[in-house]
Amino acid sequence: MSSQSPARTPCPCGRSDRREIPIPYLQCCGRYLDDFAQTPAPDAESLMRSRYTAFVREQAPYLLATWHASTRPGSIDFEEGVKWLGLEVRARSVLDADHAEVEFVARRRSSAGVASRLHERSRFMREDDGALSRWYYVDGDLN
Ligand SMILES: [Zn+2]
Repeated sequence: MSSQSPARTPCPCGRSDRREIPIPYLQCCGRYLDDFAQTPAPDAESLMRSRYTAFVREQAPYLLATWHASTRPGSIDFEEGVKWLGLEVRARSVLDADHAEVEFVARRRSSAGVASRLHERSRFMREDDGALSRWYYVDGDLN
């Protein structure tokens, strides 16, 4: 259990500010997870981080809403007992205004205690949605 107040709980995605201080959830991915309709993640890396955080918090609606319609699954099943241990963003590349890639490693441990790494280069696409523009996860290549 954390003794920190919820407002200061570091974001699961592990993002830090310029002074290397962890950014609290509410000021990081929480802005997007808690208000997806009005506050979409502003860039591909922020969306990728928020999706990792949504996996940690098992927020399927957010994962589905940020999945591009062309590749979105019908539903999301969370593996029971998995503990996500951390996220490391290895590389980001902006291909053009509406396409970007993010390479990351996510570490996890199964309910049986087996540690594993998910190493993926993910593709993202931006589309207009009324007055807003939104980034979507399209697909990815596992390393
Ligand atoms: Zn975050």
